[in-house]
Order: sequence, then C-alpha cells, then structure tokens
Amino acid sequence: MITAIGDVMRRCYDKGWITTRDGNASVRLRGANCVYITPSGIRKNTIRVEDIIKMKIVSGGQELQIPEGTKPSGELHMHWLLQRSATKTRAVLHVHPTHVIAAMHAGWDLKELCKPFAEIYRYTRVGPNVPEIPAVTEQLGNATYLAMCPTDNLEFDIVGQVGHGVCAVAGDPWTAYEHVERLDHICEIVLKSGVKPPTSL
Ligand SMILES: [Zn+2]
Repeated sequence: MITAIGDVMRRCYDKGWITTRDGNASVRLRGANCVYITPSGIRKNTIRVEDIIKMKIVSGGQELQIPEGTKPSGELHMHWLLQRSATKTRAVLHVHPTHVIAAMHAGWDLKELCKPFAEIYRYTRVGPNVPEIPAVTEQLGNATYLAMCPTDNLEFDIVGQVGHGVCAVAGDPWTAYEHVERLDHICEIVLKSGVKPPTSL
C-alpha cells in the first residue's frame, strides 16, 4: 500500500499530470495511528518507498507529529483534513491533470460536465469545483475539504481546484488514480468536442 504511493506518483508523471516536483499523496491504514505522505519537492518521477514520510497521529487524534529532519508535502493541511476522520484505509491524491484543469479554465463546472457520461458517474462521484485559491495554503485545504465533505462525511471521490488541479480520495492509491484518470478522460472528450459550458453560451 505504501509502495503504491510512489508507483502512482510515477504513473501520474508519465501521464503528464504533474511536472517532476508537483503532486502529492498520502495514505492512512485502517486502525493505524499514523499517516504516510510524500515529501515536499521530491522528484515524483524517481520517488521510492523509502522516501515516504511516516507521521504519528498524536494529541488524541488531533495532530500529526512530523519526524525531525523531514519535510512533508506543502499540501499537508489538505491531506490531514481528509485523513483525520478516516475509519477505513484511505488514500488522498493531489495532482494537476491537464484536461481537467483546461476544462475548468474554459468555465466548466466538472459536476455539470460529467452529467451526460455514464462512464464516470457510475464509478466516480464528482464534487463541486473548488474556486481559485493559491497552492499550499490552509485556505486551499479548507475549501477542498468542504467541497469533498460538505456535511463532514466524505460525499465525493474527486473535486477540481480551479487554476490548479484535483484532489481524489479512495480506499487505496490506485483507486484514487482511477478517479483522476476517468475524470481527465471525460474532460478530454468534452474539450475535443468543442461543446462550451452552458454559462458561456
Ligand atoms: Zn498542486
């Protein structure tokens, strides 16, 4: 499961969804009192399992203990908000898939964009777009959490972050990857069709 973090990041790089130092992923195993996360700024095309940082959950489940000398991903706040209440094994993946970002840039609400495509809505619940917020800020983490968990329960598998990327949540890193792949594929189809978002008509 932890090895899969690196495998998925390398695949995301191969897909062109991130440049070498972008993107991040975390895993919390069922019943374990720790969270595993990718380090900040590490090359995702060569990341290995021994690079992954293991953080203990302390203060009665309220905080993460960052091991000395390590630098977890700058999006740690987003990962922790989504991992904090996990009761089963959970993986969180944040990458920058080209077609999804392009579709949001063109004005699409991803939920709306996916409506005609059974291929995606049967397997992947797409949440509301997160508005444009600077990367590696608490605000981005908070807004992403709110979009995915509007009632404090996880209600969606993936949300887009305007001008930036996506955040996907699943029971393991490869399933989170599949949510991204499915959404990026639909966005590519819509963009190639030339159909414009309803609001821009
Ligand atoms: Zn990012």
